[in-house]
Amino acid sequence: MKPVDITIVIPVFNERENLEILMEEVTCAMKSVEKTYEIVCVNDCSTDGSLDVLKKLKAKDNRIRIISFKRNHGLTSALDAGFKCAGGDIVAMLDADLQNDPADLPAMFEQIKRFDVVCGWRKKRRDTFVKKISSKIANAVRRAFTGDKYHDIACGIKVFRRRCVSDMTMYNGLHRFFPILMELDGYTVTEIVVNHRNRYKGTSKYAIGNRLFRSLYDLIAVKWMINRRLTYKEDSNEL
Ligand code: UDP
Ligand code: MG
Repeated sequence: MKPVDITIVIPVFNERENLEILMEEVTCAMKSVEKTYEIVCVNDCSTDGSLDVLKKLKAKDNRIRIISFKRNHGLTSALDAGFKCAGGDIVAMLDADLQNDPADLPAMFEQIKRFDVVCGWRKKRRDTFVKKISSKIANAVRRAFTGDKYHDIACGIKVFRRRCVSDMTMYNGLHRFFPILMELDGYTVTEIVVNHRNRYKGTSKYAIGNRLFRSLYDLIAVKWMINRRLTYKEDSNEL
Protein backbone atom coordinates (compact mmCIF):
# COMPACT_ATOMS: atom_id res chain seq x y z
CA MET A 1 0.00 0.00 0.00
CA LYS A 2 1.43 3.37 -1.04
CA PRO A 3 1.63 5.92 1.78
CA VAL A 4 -0.95 8.71 1.43
CA ASP A 5 -1.66 12.01 3.20
CA ILE A 6 -5.45 11.75 3.36
CA THR A 7 -7.96 8.89 3.70
CA ILE A 8 -11.59 9.53 2.77
CA VAL A 9 -13.91 6.96 4.36
CA ILE A 10 -17.28 6.37 2.70
CA PRO A 11 -19.86 4.04 4.29
CA VAL A 12 -22.00 2.37 1.64
CA PHE A 13 -25.28 0.57 2.19
CA ASN A 14 -27.43 0.25 -0.93
CA GLU A 15 -26.16 3.35 -2.71
CA ARG A 16 -25.63 1.85 -6.20
CA GLU A 17 -26.92 4.81 -8.20
CA ASN A 18 -25.00 7.41 -6.21
CA LEU A 19 -21.50 5.97 -6.32
CA GLU A 20 -20.29 6.95 -9.75
CA ILE A 21 -21.26 10.61 -9.37
CA LEU A 22 -19.88 10.61 -5.84
CA MET A 23 -16.46 9.44 -7.03
CA GLU A 24 -16.47 12.04 -9.81
CA GLU A 25 -17.28 14.76 -7.28
CA VAL A 26 -14.60 13.58 -4.84
CA THR A 27 -11.99 13.45 -7.62
CA CYS A 28 -12.96 16.93 -8.75
CA ALA A 29 -12.85 18.36 -5.20
CA MET A 30 -9.46 16.78 -4.49
CA LYS A 31 -7.89 18.43 -7.55
CA SER A 32 -7.42 21.63 -5.57
CA VAL A 33 -5.89 19.78 -2.59
CA GLU A 34 -2.19 19.30 -3.02
CA LYS A 35 -2.04 16.04 -1.10
CA THR A 36 -2.12 12.36 -1.95
CA TYR A 37 -5.26 10.50 -0.97
CA GLU A 38 -7.11 7.20 -0.93
CA ILE A 39 -10.85 6.54 -0.77
CA VAL A 40 -11.88 3.67 1.51
CA CYS A 41 -15.40 2.52 0.63
CA VAL A 42 -16.93 0.30 3.29
CA ASN A 43 -19.70 -1.80 1.82
CA ASP A 44 -22.04 -2.58 4.70
CA CYS A 45 -23.49 -5.70 3.03
CA SER A 46 -25.42 -3.88 0.30
CA THR A 47 -28.01 -5.97 -1.53
CA ASP A 48 -28.53 -3.65 -4.52
CA GLY A 49 -25.30 -4.32 -6.42
CA SER A 50 -23.33 -1.44 -4.84
CA LEU A 51 -20.35 -3.77 -4.40
CA ASP A 52 -20.17 -4.49 -8.15
CA VAL A 53 -20.27 -0.76 -8.89
CA LEU A 54 -17.49 -0.19 -6.36
CA LYS A 55 -15.36 -2.91 -7.95
CA LYS A 56 -15.78 -1.28 -11.38
CA LEU A 57 -14.83 2.10 -9.98
CA LYS A 58 -11.78 0.62 -8.24
CA ALA A 59 -10.65 -0.95 -11.52
CA LYS A 60 -10.55 2.57 -13.01
CA ASP A 61 -9.03 4.35 -10.01
CA ASN A 62 -6.39 2.67 -7.88
CA ARG A 63 -6.90 5.22 -5.11
CA ILE A 64 -10.14 3.40 -4.25
CA ARG A 65 -10.04 0.63 -1.65
CA ILE A 66 -12.99 -1.56 -0.72
CA ILE A 67 -13.80 -3.20 2.59
CA SER A 68 -16.88 -5.41 2.48
CA PHE A 69 -18.99 -6.78 5.34
CA LYS A 70 -20.75 -10.15 5.09
CA ARG A 71 -23.61 -8.81 7.24
CA ASN A 72 -25.08 -5.37 7.70
CA HIS A 73 -23.44 -3.90 10.81
CA GLY A 74 -24.61 -0.29 10.66
CA LEU A 75 -22.94 3.06 10.14
CA THR A 76 -20.71 3.13 13.25
CA SER A 77 -19.13 -0.20 12.29
CA ALA A 78 -18.65 0.86 8.67
CA LEU A 79 -16.91 4.07 9.78
CA ASP A 80 -14.80 2.24 12.36
CA ALA A 81 -13.62 -0.30 9.77
CA GLY A 82 -12.59 2.55 7.46
CA PHE A 83 -10.91 4.55 10.20
CA LYS A 84 -8.94 1.60 11.54
CA CYS A 85 -7.37 0.83 8.16
CA ALA A 86 -6.78 4.46 7.13
CA GLY A 87 -3.31 5.13 5.76
CA GLY A 88 -3.52 8.92 5.86
CA ASP A 89 -2.65 11.14 8.83
CA ILE A 90 -5.80 13.08 7.98
CA VAL A 91 -9.08 11.14 7.79
CA ALA A 92 -12.34 12.40 6.31
CA MET A 93 -15.78 10.80 6.47
CA LEU A 94 -18.47 11.39 3.90
CA ASP A 95 -21.92 9.86 3.30
CA ALA A 96 -22.41 8.03 0.01
CA ASP A 97 -25.82 9.44 -0.92
CA LEU A 98 -24.53 12.82 -2.19
CA GLN A 99 -26.26 14.74 0.62
CA ASN A 100 -22.79 15.91 1.68
CA ASP A 101 -20.90 17.89 -0.92
CA PRO A 102 -17.28 16.79 -1.52
CA ALA A 103 -16.62 20.38 -2.67
CA ASP A 104 -16.56 21.29 1.04
CA LEU A 105 -13.53 19.06 1.69
CA PRO A 106 -10.76 21.49 0.61
CA ALA A 107 -11.93 24.15 3.12
CA MET A 108 -12.13 21.47 5.82
CA PHE A 109 -8.60 20.29 5.04
CA GLU A 110 -7.46 23.91 5.50
CA GLN A 111 -9.10 24.05 8.95
CA ILE A 112 -7.56 20.75 10.06
CA LYS A 113 -4.18 22.51 10.03
CA ARG A 114 -5.38 24.41 13.13
CA PHE A 115 -7.75 21.91 14.79
CA ASP A 116 -7.81 18.16 15.47
CA VAL A 117 -11.42 17.76 14.36
CA VAL A 118 -13.46 19.72 11.79
CA CYS A 119 -17.22 19.05 11.78
CA GLY A 120 -19.64 19.97 9.05
CA TRP A 121 -22.62 22.13 10.06
CA ARG A 122 -25.64 21.77 7.76
CA LYS A 123 -26.98 25.25 8.38
CA LYS A 124 -29.53 24.86 5.58
CA ARG A 125 -30.71 21.26 5.74
CA ARG A 126 -32.21 19.44 2.81
CA ASP A 127 -34.20 16.73 4.52
CA THR A 128 -37.81 15.81 5.14
CA PHE A 129 -39.79 17.88 7.64
CA VAL A 130 -39.87 14.95 10.07
CA LYS A 131 -36.12 14.52 9.87
CA LYS A 132 -35.45 18.22 10.40
CA ILE A 133 -37.76 18.33 13.43
CA SER A 134 -36.36 15.15 14.98
CA SER A 135 -32.83 16.48 14.49
CA LYS A 136 -33.79 19.81 16.14
CA ILE A 137 -35.25 17.93 19.12
CA ALA A 138 -32.21 15.65 19.43
CA ASN A 139 -29.80 18.61 19.25
CA ALA A 140 -31.78 20.66 21.79
CA VAL A 141 -32.13 17.80 24.29
CA ARG A 142 -28.45 16.89 23.92
CA ARG A 143 -27.27 20.47 24.42
CA ALA A 144 -29.44 20.80 27.55
CA PHE A 145 -28.10 17.49 28.85
CA THR A 146 -24.39 17.87 28.13
CA GLY A 147 -23.99 21.66 27.94
CA ASP A 148 -22.15 21.37 24.61
CA LYS A 149 -22.42 24.08 21.96
CA TYR A 150 -22.43 22.06 18.73
CA HIS A 151 -25.03 23.03 16.13
CA ASP A 152 -25.04 19.83 14.09
CA ILE A 153 -23.21 17.04 15.81
CA ALA A 154 -24.34 14.22 13.48
CA CYS A 155 -23.37 15.78 10.15
CA GLY A 156 -22.01 13.11 7.79
CA ILE A 157 -19.01 15.13 6.62
CA LYS A 158 -16.16 15.50 9.10
CA VAL A 159 -12.37 15.62 9.00
CA PHE A 160 -10.08 14.35 11.75
CA ARG A 161 -6.43 13.88 12.56
CA ARG A 162 -6.13 10.12 12.39
CA ARG A 163 -5.31 9.52 16.05
CA CYS A 164 -8.72 10.99 17.05
CA VAL A 165 -10.49 8.10 15.36
CA SER A 166 -7.87 5.35 15.44
CA ASP A 167 -7.50 5.53 19.23
CA MET A 168 -11.24 5.62 19.96
CA THR A 169 -13.11 2.53 21.14
CA MET A 170 -16.34 2.72 19.19
CA TYR A 171 -19.76 1.54 20.31
CA ASN A 172 -22.78 1.31 18.06
CA GLY A 173 -24.37 4.76 17.78
CA LEU A 174 -21.39 6.75 19.06
CA HIS A 175 -20.70 8.20 15.60
CA ARG A 176 -23.47 10.69 16.47
CA PHE A 177 -21.36 12.05 19.33
CA PHE A 178 -17.86 12.22 17.82
CA PRO A 179 -17.13 15.92 18.56
CA ILE A 180 -18.14 15.60 22.24
CA LEU A 181 -16.17 12.38 22.71
CA MET A 182 -13.11 13.78 20.97
CA GLU A 183 -13.24 16.92 23.08
CA LEU A 184 -13.32 14.65 26.14
CA ASP A 185 -10.15 13.01 24.82
CA GLY A 186 -8.52 16.44 24.78
CA TYR A 187 -8.76 17.19 21.05
CA THR A 188 -9.64 20.61 19.62
CA VAL A 189 -12.85 20.74 17.59
CA THR A 190 -14.32 23.32 15.22
CA GLU A 191 -17.46 23.51 13.08
CA ILE A 192 -17.67 24.78 9.53
CA VAL A 193 -20.84 25.52 7.55
CA VAL A 194 -21.24 23.03 4.70
CA ASN A 195 -23.55 22.54 1.76
CA HIS A 196 -26.35 20.01 2.18
CA ARG A 197 -28.39 18.50 -0.61
CA ASN A 198 -31.30 16.18 -1.11
CA ARG A 199 -30.41 12.50 -1.22
CA TYR A 200 -29.71 11.88 -4.91
CA LYS A 201 -31.02 8.30 -5.32
CA GLY A 202 -32.04 5.48 -2.98
CA THR A 203 -33.68 5.78 0.41
CA SER A 204 -32.63 6.95 3.84
CA LYS A 205 -31.73 4.17 6.25
CA TYR A 206 -32.59 6.14 9.35
CA ALA A 207 -35.95 7.28 10.74
CA ILE A 208 -37.31 8.40 14.11
CA GLY A 209 -37.21 4.90 15.65
CA ASN A 210 -33.63 4.05 14.83
CA ARG A 211 -32.21 7.54 15.18
CA LEU A 212 -34.07 9.99 17.46
CA PHE A 213 -35.01 7.53 20.23
CA ARG A 214 -31.71 5.69 20.01
CA SER A 215 -29.63 8.84 20.16
CA LEU A 216 -31.60 10.07 23.18
CA TYR A 217 -30.93 6.73 24.89
CA ASP A 218 -27.24 6.82 23.92
CA LEU A 219 -27.05 10.27 25.48
CA ILE A 220 -27.22 8.63 28.91
CA ALA A 221 -23.97 6.80 28.15
CA VAL A 222 -22.33 9.96 26.81
CA LYS A 223 -23.38 11.94 29.89
CA TRP A 224 -21.96 9.15 32.08
CA MET A 225 -18.64 9.40 30.21
CA ILE A 226 -18.57 13.17 30.68
CA ASN A 227 -19.22 12.81 34.42
CA ARG A 228 -16.74 9.99 34.96
CA ARG A 229 -13.91 11.37 32.87
CA LEU A 230 -10.56 11.03 34.65
CA THR A 231 -9.36 14.52 35.49
CA TYR A 232 -6.24 13.79 37.57
CA LYS A 233 -3.77 14.67 34.82
CA GLU A 234 -3.92 18.44 35.46
CA ASP A 235 -3.07 17.74 39.13
CA SER A 236 -0.30 15.22 38.65
CA ASN A 237 3.44 15.43 38.06
CA GLU A 238 6.25 12.94 38.49
CA LEU A 239 8.93 13.97 40.98
N1 UDP B 1 -25.10 3.41 5.98
C1 UDP B 1 -24.34 2.28 6.24
N2 UDP B 1 -24.91 1.25 6.94
C2 UDP B 1 -26.20 1.28 7.39
C3 UDP B 1 -26.96 2.45 7.14
C4 UDP B 1 -26.38 3.49 6.43
O1 UDP B 1 -23.18 2.20 5.84
O2 UDP B 1 -26.65 0.31 8.00
C5 UDP B 1 -24.51 4.51 5.22
C6 UDP B 1 -25.32 5.00 4.02
O3 UDP B 1 -25.05 4.25 2.86
C7 UDP B 1 -24.89 6.45 3.91
C8 UDP B 1 -24.65 6.84 5.36
O4 UDP B 1 -24.48 5.63 6.08
O5 UDP B 1 -23.66 6.56 3.21
C9 UDP B 1 -25.80 7.64 5.96
O6 UDP B 1 -27.03 6.95 5.73
P1 UDP B 1 -28.34 7.70 5.24
O7 UDP B 1 -28.01 8.66 4.16
O8 UDP B 1 -29.38 6.69 4.95
O9 UDP B 1 -28.72 8.50 6.57
P2 UDP B 1 -29.50 9.89 6.66
O10 UDP B 1 -28.73 10.89 5.83
O11 UDP B 1 -30.86 9.65 6.12
O12 UDP B 1 -29.46 10.19 8.11
MG1 MG C 1 -28.26 10.75 3.85
